[in-house]
Amino acid sequence: MINVYVDVDGVLNGVYAQAGQGGWNPSCLRREQINGFRITWHTDMINRLHNLLDQPHVHPVWLTTWEDDAPRLIAPALCIGFDWPVLHPTQTTFGKQREVFDDVEDTQPDKVLWLDDDAAYSRDYFTGNFKRISPYTGTGLTPDHLTEIEEFLRV
Ligand SMILES: [Mg+2]
Repeated sequence: MINVYVDVDGVLNGVYAQAGQGGWNPSCLRREQINGFRITWHTDMINRLHNLLDQPHVHPVWLTTWEDDAPRLIAPALCIGFDWPVLHPTQTTFGKQREVFDDVEDTQPDKVLWLDDDAAYSRDYFTGNFKRISPYTGTGLTPDHLTEIEEFLRV
């Protein structure tokens, strides 16, 4: 099993993404106000990610300050992650990292992938079967990141 921890802002939501930027098809850019926040995403990115995370050996988990609003509000808008479990990070610098380590200890996956734009976390732990992909907050995941994810999830 491979656990994949998924953040919203700066990963699925390219905070300053513009049509044609980041390598996605310009016609696939969508913007919506969700809970008072402007969310911007590429439907071709979501489709590709959905196919990768929908594999039987892959276990996607929400790890975002949106917490329970991720499946409740983000999932129906972006059409991904309706049934992913939600972790509840504490509001400290290393809150999310702590959640990842605790969840890994509880679930004992073979590999771990963490998708989060926040570079404040220590990179030292993320080697070998423990991978972290940290997109630029303004664009979110790019096609190159999706290729990296695809390769990591291959068994
Ligand atoms: Mg983020």
